[in-house]
Amino acid sequence: MPHLDPEQLSLLALYDDWQDEYSREHLGSCGECAADYAALRRAVDAVKTTPDSSSLEAPGPHVWAGIHRELGLSPSLQEDPLAAPQGEAPSAEEALPPARPQSLDEARVSRRRKAAWWQGPGAWLAAAAAVLLVAGGTVWSLNRAPDPVAQAELTPLAQFSATGSAKVLSAADGSRRLEVKLSKDEAQGYQEVWLIAPDLSRLVSLGVMNSDTGTFEVPAGLELADFPIVDVSDEPVDGNPAHSSVSIVRGTLNT
Ligand SMILES: [Zn+2]
Repeated sequence: MPHLDPEQLSLLALYDDWQDEYSREHLGSCGECAADYAALRRAVDAVKTTPDSSSLEAPGPHVWAGIHRELGLSPSLQEDPLAAPQGEAPSAEEALPPARPQSLDEARVSRRRKAAWWQGPGAWLAAAAAVLLVAGGTVWSLNRAPDPVAQAELTPLAQFSATGSAKVLSAADGSRRLEVKLSKDEAQGYQEVWLIAPDLSRLVSLGVMNSDTGTFEVPAGLELADFPIVDVSDEPVDGNPAHSSVSIVRGTLNT
């Protein structure tokens, strides 16, 4: 079952009544997503506390510039929406000296009317929501190592005792890498990492591993299902590029 993406998590965190039964069900059964959701919820609760807008300062233009850049918005939205309009003639009401309020209530009303639109809680919530979407994506990408597209337990052969694991991770650009982790390096010569066909008739060398861990590019176009066996061999330094036929560990990817 795929994890929820940052947008789904943010929408769920922002709106209690967001209709998304699938995602809410997933939250109930997935600890990772539930933890991300809880973190976003705390952020939402923090910004939903209505601020005392009378003492708020208008955010400087750098704030919008930051939001604009983070969200990768189009150039047509570059202008700070909170910036005071340039060169606009003052309205008749603004040009006249303010009439002295008759009562405290009237003073309050007139002051509220004078409050800039950005002092309204709606504008702040919208801005907070935009920031939250960015934060959500960041939390998500920092907390989540990408899910492996395939993995294997590596178990020792014959006279060896090392154990380990291998996983194939896929990058956004479609490239894949194989991460190998062993409990120890038992090679008499050096370790070489291979992907091998199920009948052991064909094999691809991914490279040399000089310690107990290594990361290897998987050749583009290679079908993991055709070469699902991960093998780490013990290779003598003899200049022969073929597999020595001495395997230290081996395991099959769950493709
Ligand atoms: Zn999940």
